[in-house]
Amino acid sequence: MIKIPPDIEAAILKDRVTTAEIADVIKHCEDTRAKVLDAASGEYTGYGETGAITLWVRYKTAGADAEVLEYYFNRTRITGVSYPVAEPDLRLGPLPKSMRNRALLCCKCDVSLEIRKVLFKYMNRSYSAMSFACPICGQVYESQEVIRCRAEKVEALLEEK
Ligand SMILES: [Zn+2]
Repeated sequence: MIKIPPDIEAAILKDRVTTAEIADVIKHCEDTRAKVLDAASGEYTGYGETGAITLWVRYKTAGADAEVLEYYFNRTRITGVSYPVAEPDLRLGPLPKSMRNRALLCCKCDVSLEIRKVLFKYMNRSYSAMSFACPICGQVYESQEVIRCRAEKVEALLEEK
């Protein structure tokens, strides 16, 4: 069973996302194990593409139940994962410091995520940025914090082209 706390349910209605879409993301993550474990908190994060958005859900499990802790979305598609990057050589700069040392694990491959160059598509324009990705299956992790602080930079970058 998927539990959605009342405050999150209220936000879902406002955001024009549906609880079914959020449940689908969790079901997909659980069925395929395409989810990322935050080793410090024991929480999972996964994503799915639904309509024009990429929908991210952070949740925790207890037995057969899953409780939604957070959801967020953007209109960016993940189109590929490239080489590992140690230095902020990309035009969008580095990941925020608070993000860089997180212990994130791909549950499908049982390996740690690495900071890699990830390719995205937004409004039919492509760009690349540093992000956490699984070196084996290419599963990507983006926190709401990263998505938020990158959004303005991406718009500026795409406008100057
Ligand atoms: Zn993986």
